[in-house]
Amino acid sequence: MTIFDIKRFALHDGPGIRTTVFLKGCPLRCAWCHNPESHMAEPEEYMENRLIDGKEIKRTRIYGKKVRTSDLFDELIRDRVFFEESGGGVTFSGGEPLMQHEELLQILELLGREKIHRTIDTSGQAPGDVMLNVAGQAELFLYDLKLMDPEKHREYTGVDNSRILENADLLLQHDIEVIFRIPLIPGINDTSEEIDAFRSFFKERAGLFGDVSLLPYHKTATGKYQRMQKEYVIAALEEPSAQRMQVLRNEFESCGVRTTIGG
Ligand code: SF4
Repeated sequence: MTIFDIKRFALHDGPGIRTTVFLKGCPLRCAWCHNPESHMAEPEEYMENRLIDGKEIKRTRIYGKKVRTSDLFDELIRDRVFFEESGGGVTFSGGEPLMQHEELLQILELLGREKIHRTIDTSGQAPGDVMLNVAGQAELFLYDLKLMDPEKHREYTGVDNSRILENADLLLQHDIEVIFRIPLIPGINDTSEEIDAFRSFFKERAGLFGDVSLLPYHKTATGKYQRMQKEYVIAALEEPSAQRMQVLRNEFESCGVRTTIGG
């Protein structure tokens, strides 16, 4: 399995205290992506530029490493006491974790045998059978919806949303716990057309899923893009205000969807 980070004591990636494993590889290229180091499936080498005390320092950095699932399991199980005391567990994120579904299934099975709660944070862009196989080994899906208009979805992520919407319904039909997450990107997916389309989608599926989480766009990845010498095409966008987020939350709640701001 190829991963690029492990974060302990995560509080926004599912219930309780969690350890989140970030897998490399993603079939999307979202314009607002906070993890550009996740995109390529293999470890990547970058020449990183940093300014320290006014001096430009260049250094080589490798994003990602290969790990054996058994070694990863040994590392994850060390946090068991925190999982048990908080009702937490392990979350697999990325990138798109389903791109490594064979290794992912192995580690999910190992954790399942130990009764560790398993959450998958997915873009939904994967074959339907893969989605269902992984769902059979997880307790919760954090399922990202980015844009409802297929052409805008293609423009801003590189793919249309047909498979993502089909897979969302596949999970809901199979009675799998799903929380939808929408990264709120000002001017891109918070237009009245998009919000209306999201609301219709949720209304038609009322009672089949848990919450909707609205994730406000933030600019924290700007430095990462600069260090990696990658273009951050939406760098000029402003973050949405707390007031704006509250207005959007109210719009979702008014159609009967329990909505949170943040993870
Ligand atoms: S799906 Fe997630 S990891 Fe992949 S490009 Fe989009 S934001 Fe980045």
